[in-house]
Amino acid sequence: MTKINRRTFLKLLPTVPFYKVAWPALQTAVQGHNLAQSSDQPNILFLVFDTLSAQHMSLHGYNRETTPNMARFAEKSTVFHKHVAGGNFTSPGTATMMTGTYAWTHRAIQLHGLVHDEFVQKNMFSLMPDNYHTVAYTHNLLVMSLLHQFRGDLDLFKHTRDLCLSDGQFADRLFFDDYTTAFWAETTALQGGATPPSGLFLSLLDRFARFAETRGFKNELASEYPRGIPNLHTLFFLLEDAIDWIEEQVVTMPQPFMGYFHLLPPHEPYTPHADFIDIFTDGWQPTEKPKLYGAKNMPQAALNRERRLYDEYLAFTDQEFGRLLDNLEQQGVLDNTYIILSSDHGELFERGIRGHVTLTLYEGLTHIPLLIHKPGQQSREDVFQRTTAADILPTLMQITGQPVPDWCEGTVLPTFGGAEAAADRLVYSVEAKSNPKYAALTEATVAMYQNDMKLIRYFGYNEGEELYELYNLNDDPEELNNIYESETGLASDLTTALKDKIFAENAPYRRE
Ligand SMILES: [Zn+2]
Repeated sequence: MTKINRRTFLKLLPTVPFYKVAWPALQTAVQGHNLAQSSDQPNILFLVFDTLSAQHMSLHGYNRETTPNMARFAEKSTVFHKHVAGGNFTSPGTATMMTGTYAWTHRAIQLHGLVHDEFVQKNMFSLMPDNYHTVAYTHNLLVMSLLHQFRGDLDLFKHTRDLCLSDGQFADRLFFDDYTTAFWAETTALQGGATPPSGLFLSLLDRFARFAETRGFKNELASEYPRGIPNLHTLFFLLEDAIDWIEEQVVTMPQPFMGYFHLLPPHEPYTPHADFIDIFTDGWQPTEKPKLYGAKNMPQAALNRERRLYDEYLAFTDQEFGRLLDNLEQQGVLDNTYIILSSDHGELFERGIRGHVTLTLYEGLTHIPLLIHKPGQQSREDVFQRTTAADILPTLMQITGQPVPDWCEGTVLPTFGGAEAAADRLVYSVEAKSNPKYAALTEATVAMYQNDMKLIRYFGYNEGEELYELYNLNDDPEELNNIYESETGLASDLTTALKDKIFAENAPYRRE
């Protein structure tokens, strides 16, 4: 039986297109018809939890029980153990999944970055077969900007605010066609960024209006969310509402479908439901790590506390995922749907760094989960080859019976057929938010993996400066021991390979 959360349903009533399209179908579903069985071509349900680090998942060996529900899902899925994010924050990480290319190609390298115009026609939505119904939703405004670029290929582009308690932004309401420009103008004006006197006045007005708007539900939900209602800047939302809506969509929308749902938890601030407050007060003191380039100054005790809060929010997120999974399973959705679970990047609580706004690319940031349930899959498969977020798009091509475009930098994932990736394949993660968008990468951090060897190169942050770290992740998964100076032969070979790669990728932007 489909459960419709009352709050969600009442909120959705005024959105006429949804109501007209979905309600009759929803009633059919409630009567017990199994809509999920009605298409020969498989559906694709792509769930992204923002800032979900594989390094924090009990499924991947973390010592807190953070992901029991994702572990249940793993028993009917293919689990990719060495999956690498495209970058360390939302824009590059998400764009790599959506375009099958690395950041030096898609160019969503800056905060709130957009992809190069050519990718408006080269992404996971535009490349779906015409008969696929495509739907997307996100809580994350950086992802909303990317989806806005791709909206011409979305049958349903659900706006962020539609599933929020309060969104506090005007850009998408008033200027949707110019969403990203309007977003920046609004952000600058209201936060007093560029024009202090008038900006400050607007900011005060804005805060007052927002206070009035949010006070009601904050009071109502205070006991359920003692650390605050899930939010980011001006957005307030309940993960439960988005989960309920996704379930409704999956059960009622035309098939075959491809749904991309990018939810903000466990992104900061870490605000779990009351049931998850203080579940990890175990006193665990993680090993303190060496402070190298990019380190910051948060004291270790504060990092440990923040880690615990993140872990509790992750456990809450996992519970909501489990609830969705159980409901979809009851509806028979697992029988003809690929369910992809992943993230755009992770989170860091080490070397004085808390969060993901950093120029580093340590495993907490770059090691992300990837689990894929194939239609009808009943047992677990484990893949230990190194894979990248750029492999998602080629795999979607394979699933839908289409050729992989030659401009893709990823390959079809292992166990999905297609050509096997080379055993010595090189995989990358790129951080370049301070580099000009359409210019050669001259100020950036790039991590390069070859199996379990990981080379990190920092370059251009100070004039002429280049720094390297090298880790053997098999022996040293926590990156405690930088072997760049001791493994000189290997370090030299990998350095040459990485510099050659960056040189080649910079070619279109280099003045010869
Ligand atoms: Zn993100």
